[in-house]
Amino acid sequence: MRQPYIAGNWKMYKTVSEATALAGALVAAVGRETGRKVMIAPPFTALHAVREVLKGSKIVLGAQNACAELEGAHTGEISLRMLRDAGVTVVILGHSERRHVYGETDALVNRKVKLALAEGFEIILCVGETLDERQKGVTEKVVEGQTRGGLEGVAERDMGRVTIAYEPVWAIGTGKNATPQDADAVHSFIRTVISQMDGAEAAQALTIQYGGSVKPDNVRDLMKMENIDGALVGGASLKPETFLPIVQFDR
Ligand code: PEP
Repeated sequence: MRQPYIAGNWKMYKTVSEATALAGALVAAVGRETGRKVMIAPPFTALHAVREVLKGSKIVLGAQNACAELEGAHTGEISLRMLRDAGVTVVILGHSERRHVYGETDALVNRKVKLALAEGFEIILCVGETLDERQKGVTEKVVEGQTRGGLEGVAERDMGRVTIAYEPVWAIGTGKNATPQDADAVHSFIRTVISQMDGAEAAQALTIQYGGSVKPDNVRDLMKMENIDGALVGGASLKPETFLPIVQFDR
């Protein structure tokens, strides 16, 4: 049985005081939650402060990205060592905004994935097709390429620290979401790809989140699907009144 895993990606929102207030509200409501895993990924500037708020709770601290190098002349980048120092244990990699706005390739995402795993982090690898790709009927080709490309060279023993988030780009922040059946079909396909790469056991154990306009009113139908194990939530993770009902969804 895979444990439901709900993650909040706060993107470039929240000052330090706003972030600590939101984290505090989440700790008060779901900080003792045991039936499901909850992660929040505030902006880098708020990580240290949010870590203090999360202390003693079960909510996990995540980061939205990391540099593919551990240190050096990389102006504007944040290293995995800095993230560990800030209390981060999970890193989101290959988010569509990183791929499509900042030009991250599968090769770069793969370097980040391997370094993060070597440094002992858990990762969430995001994959997903654009609207154009879906309309051209190449969703599986794109998702397979990003999955294989992102995980190339990752040892089977490290797959326990890998989560995949299927996030169709056309559904992110748009209010449009894939139907539960469409999303489940892609999740099932991802499981098949992982089974070919790492075997059936790793594929069955893999947590696959859905992301793309997840809201309190659609989370339940998504989470009912056999291959949907959780959600990576953007916009709705920014307020307790929309994130808490998602975390506390009832199957
Ligand atoms: C995301 O940022 O990963 C995301 C899925 O955003 P939203 O929930 O706003 O679509």
